[in-house]
Amino acid sequence: MKFSKYNHLFELNDTAYIYNILTTSIAQLDRQTEKAIRENNLSVLSADTTNGLTSEGFIVPNDLNEALEYQYFCNTIKYGISARTLSVTLLPTYNCNLACPYCIQGSVKKIKKMSSNEVDACVKFIKNKIEEGKATIPIQRLSIFLFGGEPTLCKKELSHFCEECDRIAKEENIEIGFDMTTNMTLLDQGLLDMIKKYQIAFQVSIDGTKEQHDKRRIRKDGSGTYDLIIKNLQRLVDYGLKHLITIRINIDNENLKDAEEILKNVKDYSNDIYFGFLTSLNGVNDNYMDKCVNSDCFSDVISTKLNNITEKYGFVVPQSFGKKGPCSIACQNKFFIDCNLDVFKCEMLLNRTDSKIGSIDYDGIFTPSNGFYKLMSFSPFNFKECVECKYLPVCGGGCPAQVYANSGKHDGDISEKNCCFNEALLNDYLKEYVGRLLK
Ligand code: SF4
Ligand code: SF4
Repeated sequence: MKFSKYNHLFELNDTAYIYNILTTSIAQLDRQTEKAIRENNLSVLSADTTNGLTSEGFIVPNDLNEALEYQYFCNTIKYGISARTLSVTLLPTYNCNLACPYCIQGSVKKIKKMSSNEVDACVKFIKNKIEEGKATIPIQRLSIFLFGGEPTLCKKELSHFCEECDRIAKEENIEIGFDMTTNMTLLDQGLLDMIKKYQIAFQVSIDGTKEQHDKRRIRKDGSGTYDLIIKNLQRLVDYGLKHLITIRINIDNENLKDAEEILKNVKDYSNDIYFGFLTSLNGVNDNYMDKCVNSDCFSDVISTKLNNITEKYGFVVPQSFGKKGPCSIACQNKFFIDCNLDVFKCEMLLNRTDSKIGSIDYDGIFTPSNGFYKLMSFSPFNFKECVECKYLPVCGGGCPAQVYANSGKHDGDISEKNCCFNEALLNDYLKEYVGRLLK
């Protein structure tokens, strides 16, 4: 037997803990056991301690290749579990009625909207995928996401799409769920009824206090949208739809200090509020880079401030670490279809014809490009450093879309790993996590 290569020792309040990055087990240690682990000396452990550590994966058989065990876990999800859900994100337009300076769809929006024939092509695509699945891994759930641009610029098309997807799900006896990302400035009775009818869970962003928000989430004439969004959220709450609302509070360097006030202002409009960090992408919104919270203070920010505020007001802190499954970029049944019927694998790679992975025709037939096979082949196991890295199960090789977008090459090759974990960062996450459990 041997100690797992994924064991990670850390201290909190003068107490020693061990975390296994592969099994995600966590345990408190006495000093004798901690010393034995640090010195890689199994022989001094009692039989009880050895059995306890073995049952949680801290001690493993000598011949076990744990990296292969993680690879098996990823492959099971990639081609098995995740394939049972067909996830389709519809982008009926890249256009938007707002002009946020950090928008990942760029500052000049394409104005094309999906036609009703194109919506029908997407519906046929879904039907085709469900049929294909019957011969291999049957689809058990249909996850529909409405995205943009601002999807509610296309209410008629969205309504038709939701109706058709709902009908297919009933006919095929599969589960269905609807989600939408919207700026919530275009609410009318029709949209209210649609949200209610299909129980569309949706996410709205708030960019700060009213004063801060009104400098960022702006209309094309520069005017702010805070009051309108709050008014619409109140209308949705009054309509009994609070359970469908998620509020994302966008944090950057300029509003970080006001995080608590921002949350307090919106806490009554949702049961699900979280803080998210604005990011910048090469060639898309680089001008916003200086305002983004950089990775040096990222962990401190999460552990010491934002999580505490989130909990103080009774909201659930999102789990920000754990064993990573394969990136959705390489998962079989996840697709983004835009208003040109171009197909993509990740929301960070949309709106770039050179990063599309194929397209669908008016019969809903998907023709993959070579890029599809290249992205589906993405795996941290392509990189020797990742295979040997202790942080592999919690990092998963990092975000391939970030590498892809920032490399400037969009031929489907993800030629670099993207390290997003190190000892200090993992220690911060673990201390914050255990600290919360002990409260
Ligand atoms: S509301 Fe969303 S899509 Fe519209 S400009 Fe702002 S970030 Fe971009
Ligand atoms: S990307 Fe870096 S931190 Fe992540 S698994 Fe690979 S080598 Fe380790």
